[in-house]
Amino acid sequence: VVLKNYVSEKAEESDMHVTVSTLKLKVPQDSKAVVVKNLYLSCDAYLRIRMDRTQPPNSVFTSLTPGSPLNGFGVAKILESGHPEFKEGDLVWGTTGWEDYSIITEPEQLFKIHHTDVPLSYYTGLLGMPGITAFVGFHEICSLKKGDYVFISAAAGAVGQLVGQFAKLMGCYVVGSVGSKEKVDLLKNKLGFDEAFNYRDEPDLEAALKRYFPEGIDIYFENVGGKMLDAVLLNMRRHGRIAVCGLISYYSLKQPQDFSNLVSIIYNRIRIEGFVVFDYFHLYPKFLDMVIPYIREGKIVYLEDIAEGLESAPAALVGLFSVRNVGKQVVLVAYE
Ligand code: NDP
Repeated sequence: VVLKNYVSEKAEESDMHVTVSTLKLKVPQDSKAVVVKNLYLSCDAYLRIRMDRTQPPNSVFTSLTPGSPLNGFGVAKILESGHPEFKEGDLVWGTTGWEDYSIITEPEQLFKIHHTDVPLSYYTGLLGMPGITAFVGFHEICSLKKGDYVFISAAAGAVGQLVGQFAKLMGCYVVGSVGSKEKVDLLKNKLGFDEAFNYRDEPDLEAALKRYFPEGIDIYFENVGGKMLDAVLLNMRRHGRIAVCGLISYYSLKQPQDFSNLVSIIYNRIRIEGFVVFDYFHLYPKFLDMVIPYIREGKIVYLEDIAEGLESAPAALVGLFSVRNVGKQVVLVAYE
């Protein structure tokens, strides 16, 4: 799946194309690279940021290269290895190409998959980068305590659905906002949220939040930015905390929206903290120890939206920026 050109506004399917090439992939002599067969690819919002021609100087991302395949997180099987720690047949997750087969030159960045009694696709979501993001945002940034009033935007997505479930397991009151009735129903009936609402049906977001949080919000887990954040600022409790995970409503805008309610940060003594999951990958083993028992006991469930085949990948990726994906958006490339 090749990026055709840099993108400056909303990404469209037509910004990518699927092409066939027949290169013979081999581990070069004296190299520690591995050749992998890609099984699942992860559609993540940061890929849109990487479609911009340039990145701001403090960015954690590099731009993608037009004419080359996209790259991002995925699950793969090792076919050939020049690295002593990987052997043929090992299953791994980490950065790979949006293609059937890839050469990975820095395999030490990959995580070996040891638990295979769960769906392999989970390593793009629940047990992959979005999972650690939810874990870190929740445990390290939010400093939650039992009974807190918690609000999550993009709450049915890869990250949000987990934050909500972690918060419920801790005994918090949890409300999520999402972009469709189907997602509202899933949050309330499948994921155990106390309440959920469709922000598209709410002309006055400030009033909607007051309805669900008459006493105010202790913790806001921010995934979208824009008007939602502005409305949240007016509904925070004193000494509330905002974990800024993502600002997806900005990624396709040339000029981000201004805020009207910033002074609430002072009046309500709000602590706002952004974080980047890449700084926390060392916590992955700790995260697995926590989450695997929850999955086995059925205490955590995970919604996935699986598109089949590489040719479906461009539509799956741009679907993140509309209401299209319901749960973690994954692309199935091959079963094994
Ligand atoms: P999701 O699986 O939640 O997919 C994106 C969802 O965002 C869409 O389904 C849609 O849901 C919502 N959305 C899209 N465009 C808009 C918009 N303009 N306004 C409001 N909502 C919108 O994505 P993830 O869970 O993977 O990611 C959530 C956020 O976390 C993203 O901002 C991402 O960039 C960020 N992130 C940050 C990380 C970090 O290290 N800080 C790591 C991983 C992710 P709906 O139908 O509900 O509107």
